[in-house]
Amino acid sequence: MPLKFRLITGRTIEQGRSMEAEGKFSDGYRKAVALAEMNPKDVEILGIRNNAKIVSVYGSVVVGVKPNSDVPPGLVFIPMGPWANVLTLPATEGTGMPTLKNIDVHVEPTSEDPTPLSAILELYGVEKISHRPTERPLAIGSRRVVNDVPCPFCGEVCDFLTVELEGEKITRILNACPIGHAKIMNYHKHRVLTPMIKHEVNGDFIEVDLEQALNRAAEILATAKYPLIYGLSNTCVEAIELAVELAEITRGVIDNTTTLCHGPTVMAVQEVGAVKITLGMAMNLADTMVFWGCNPMSAHINHIRRVVIPEGKFVKGRKERKIIVVDVRRSETAKLADIFIQVEPGKDYELFTALRMALRDYDIEAPNVAGVPREKIYELVDIMRTARFGVIFFGMGLTQGGAKHKNLEEVIKLVQELNEWSKWTLLPMRGHYNVTGSNHAMLWLTGYPYGVEFSRGFPKMIPGVTTTIDLLMNSEVDAALIIASDPVAHFPQKAVENLMKLPKIVIDPFWSLTAGVADVLIPSGVTGIECEGTVYRLDDVALKVKKLVDPPKDVLCDTDILSRLISKVKKLKRLA
Ligand code: SF4
Repeated sequence: MPLKFRLITGRTIEQGRSMEAEGKFSDGYRKAVALAEMNPKDVEILGIRNNAKIVSVYGSVVVGVKPNSDVPPGLVFIPMGPWANVLTLPATEGTGMPTLKNIDVHVEPTSEDPTPLSAILELYGVEKISHRPTERPLAIGSRRVVNDVPCPFCGEVCDFLTVELEGEKITRILNACPIGHAKIMNYHKHRVLTPMIKHEVNGDFIEVDLEQALNRAAEILATAKYPLIYGLSNTCVEAIELAVELAEITRGVIDNTTTLCHGPTVMAVQEVGAVKITLGMAMNLADTMVFWGCNPMSAHINHIRRVVIPEGKFVKGRKERKIIVVDVRRSETAKLADIFIQVEPGKDYELFTALRMALRDYDIEAPNVAGVPREKIYELVDIMRTARFGVIFFGMGLTQGGAKHKNLEEVIKLVQELNEWSKWTLLPMRGHYNVTGSNHAMLWLTGYPYGVEFSRGFPKMIPGVTTTIDLLMNSEVDAALIIASDPVAHFPQKAVENLMKLPKIVIDPFWSLTAGVADVLIPSGVTGIECEGTVYRLDDVALKVKKLVDPPKDVLCDTDILSRLISKVKKLKRLA
């Protein structure tokens, strides 16, 4: 008998590790993401043996089931990836952010095998996916040790890694978490090393030289009426600045992955401001840390050893810090906490409002709010107002479902009001490597942090209109340039279906699902390993990332590729 559940999606260590070490076409990645975690009681009630069919209003998918008592009854957790995205909702409700959490689904046991990737891609309208991963040849040479290397995976940008090399081969990495380690160690695997253009009739990739690939890409962009430039969070700000210029000369629209992670945060900060903090200040000053709707133990693993455990100038390490986790399930981070508060999915807004009431000494009449007993709310407020220095780290649990940007407005107001009692600050746990830098670069060039369009010759941003998912759902764009990103693996199904109808240019160092469906595929060097540049850490600190080795022969960095593409587009549009 199928039963009603709430679906949430998110990162796991194995999802991140397998996509970096083995690639998104691998069995390891499929096993990591074609998987639903459910409470053992729900598994028993439904009579699930191995697999379950999960159905939302947008589609259905069969996945393996892992019983996990940390997931509360009534909830299903699926790691982000193509399987989850068959079920997610493209509706952004005027925010630009699709609904990736708190989705109503039905679950029923099945003896069917998990849905294969090929069947999911067929659902997306992918007729043929070409996948030709190559291993970058590595010249073996003398031994070198490079210190203070910034990690090129997540927004934490840990800049204390030591990398040992023998020529171009990386032999040892110190201080990286398992995901960062997998990314750097395997930088030579699953590579695109030759430019390719898709054959118009049989859909096979034809290898071409860079000049031919750039000419075809320039033709597509110059003839498009309203092209979309998307991605940009895994490249440097120097490349992002060039991408903005390209959007302006093509009178298109440029968006970065903020649209799918902390877009609502950025909107709320623009509305009501925010008291922010750097990681160093948090480590030195904070005696109370709240992790709300985020799980750094799976997504920003070094964050705990960097900020929570060490001794700071005014706090003697973990033993003097109170750690509070607020989440819909007992995450790995919750297991480290002194206090875990389980909130009902999609009810964070109600809990923030109750906390603000308690802070002002108003009575809370309801015995519990958002599944949290009233006494617990008073207790939490007491801890917060008597803290010497507090920080709330928050994640996509607040941005991707429920009240979206209204959640963020509430948490910002809570922090503002807490500052009447004590010192409190706020920091979003940004996911992608340089997503913070993409916001900064777009902001200083256009006045807007993401979803910026140039159709009238000047920049304009309307969340829910000029943001990628909305543009795709409304079929408003007529070509796409994807830079260092994999929307086919991470957008809701309906948005991918519409992306598939467009001519697509992809610039990426690695084979991704999006690279496999490109019309023009241009290989690039890996920023932070083969190409240097500037990136921004999640706390807005700018860092120079290093070039450890040269890019492969005939492969350019994103900045060089985009400069050449801009010249060609300008020529075709008679702007040069
Ligand atoms: S926490 Fe993030 S930046 Fe730091 S090593 Fe891990 S993946 Fe890299």
